[in-house]
Amino acid sequence: MVRYLIYVNVVVTFSFNVRITYKLIIMKLKGTFTSIWDGDTEITTDAELDTETGEVTCESIDVDDMDLECLEREFFTDEDDNEYRICTTCHEYILVDPIIEGERLPEVELVCSNPYCESNWLPL
Ligand SMILES: [Zn+2]
Repeated sequence: MVRYLIYVNVVVTFSFNVRITYKLIIMKLKGTFTSIWDGDTEITTDAELDTETGEVTCESIDVDDMDLECLEREFFTDEDDNEYRICTTCHEYILVDPIIEGERLPEVELVCSNPYCESNWLPL
């Protein structure tokens, strides 16, 4: 009886690990993060997009010494050259179609996929 219980525990741990690994592979999209400054300055760095949450992670770039003033737009490009616009408020999440309970809101163009982003706060 004791041997049987140990066997069950090993199997559960193993299948848990397999599931976690599989999820990491499908959720992270590799690509680049690009920011366009002052009309003509383009900064690109390797980045990853979490397709489940919309969060983009990349190495942080120090732009303080580069004499840049106006950030015009930011986007993530995946390995198939698909572009995803990045929120200009939090700079960490992509913009997505505003869909609430299955209905697309017609009066809003795109919203940030970060639920805590200031750009999603609706005026009272
Ligand atoms: Zn945002």
